[in-house]
Amino acid sequence: MTERLDHFIGGEHAAPADGAYFESTNPATLEVLYEAARGTAEDVDRAVASAQAAFASPAWAGLTATKRGHLLRRLGDLIGENADQLAMMESLDNGKLLREMRGQMRSLPEYYYYYAGLADKIQGAQVPTTSLEILNYTQREPLGVVGTITPWNSPLTLTTSKIAPALAAGNTVVIKPSEYTSRTVLRLAELAYEAGFPAGAVNVVTGFGGEAGAPLVSHPALAKISFTGSTATGSRIAAEAAARFIGCTLELGGKSPNIVFDDANVANAAMGVVAGIYAAAGQTCIAGSRVFAHKAVYDELLERVTERARSIRIGDPLGDDTELGPLAFADQLAKVDSYVKLGAEEGATVHAGGGRPDGLELPGYFYSPTVLTDVDNDMRVVREEIFGPVAAIMPFEHEDELVGLANDTEYGLAAGVWTQNLARAHRMARRLDAGTIWVNTYRAMSPMSPRQGFKSSGVGIEHGIESMHEYTRLKSVWINT
Ligand code: NAD
Repeated sequence: MTERLDHFIGGEHAAPADGAYFESTNPATLEVLYEAARGTAEDVDRAVASAQAAFASPAWAGLTATKRGHLLRRLGDLIGENADQLAMMESLDNGKLLREMRGQMRSLPEYYYYYAGLADKIQGAQVPTTSLEILNYTQREPLGVVGTITPWNSPLTLTTSKIAPALAAGNTVVIKPSEYTSRTVLRLAELAYEAGFPAGAVNVVTGFGGEAGAPLVSHPALAKISFTGSTATGSRIAAEAAARFIGCTLELGGKSPNIVFDDANVANAAMGVVAGIYAAAGQTCIAGSRVFAHKAVYDELLERVTERARSIRIGDPLGDDTELGPLAFADQLAKVDSYVKLGAEEGATVHAGGGRPDGLELPGYFYSPTVLTDVDNDMRVVREEIFGPVAAIMPFEHEDELVGLANDTEYGLAAGVWTQNLARAHRMARRLDAGTIWVNTYRAMSPMSPRQGFKSSGVGIEHGIESMHEYTRLKSVWINT
């Protein structure tokens, strides 16, 4: 019989109120992995009530910041001890390479350690006033119940980016993971409870966006919503949050430029372009999907990227030497393929890939690493987020022209620059309209480094001290002495 996963509410597994479950399948083999509780508004009510009660209870509100830090550190330890199990669960769920997931899970404790260290450094300030008789100071307070909603591409890491600072600041949380990846986040809640977090501090309601996510966002007791996902859903959530004057942090889509100048080390740049677009089969928000290469190095770069795209080993994500796994679900595959076909209709040349890889025995949602050329900024394949292994490679001649092309997008999540010219590197960092700029590297990230999506790529900041402040409110206290 298929394994059943329940919600995690108030420190225990909780069956869905209406008894409904939905299947989760392995995208490489199409086998059913488990059934997860199909959450509804009633389940969300229970979870929020449990988080509210925990927030107010002495077991949580009465904890010192130091003690909250200890709990987060302990949770980090437990994640480290269970890293290989978590990696396997996530790889089976979303088809990302087991090798890569192991690396991700083994470094995940760093997020908890970082915010554990910050928990007792959340402080206000004594502020000068116009009167000697008045003492004015500020203090930072937790908000209350924070809701988090995340996609399937890095469920545990993206959830961690939200709950670690939220818990450090003294909030309690209700997590709604993607309907495609329920398992690791449920395991995370179990580990939090095992680590000593009081019942109700960390709750998980699984299910679909419209059925479990929407009621969470609109729940009257929610103090803040922290969302990672598509720009379309983010826009709806922002409207809801604005109507109720609650805070929201949004990490949304991208169409990031990866730019190779004529003074770049082209071999390194080609590796960076390949990693930027084909990692996780292109299913990363930061995917470097628009590649701009200076005319002088365009041919060489195209040849190197194409050669690599054609030789990438595609197959079972659990395999030690596999380099590319499947897309996460059937609609993803259909979407990616339809974009490539649309590109061809718009006049693009499918220079490599473009379809299911030949000779693959696994029945899953695989798609070949694809290179599109003869493309420009007017085409939908260059303007819209495909979220798959599809690179559009375009030549440019002058730096000013390039800056115009790179910034001509509704998104502003990240950008890569490949150059050996130091002045140019700094100049591009200033001129590119994106929240993260990588020079001679791509995809680098750390809990310590704040990141923000510009334009339609987001609102608010994740990671760093700045992120923790987003889970607090600032009170100003005036005392007549
Ligand atoms: P999505 O917006 O469809 O879903 C994300 C989450 O929102 C899921 O948990 C879903 O159930 C939930 N949801 C859907 N509709 C909802 C609603 N009406 N109310 C409340 N919740 C709802 O996104 P996706 O396709 O799962 O994820 C891919 C997107 O995520 C891409 O656009 C990608 O760029 C983005 N992403 C961004 C970052 C970042 O840090 N900026 C990181 C990873 C992914």
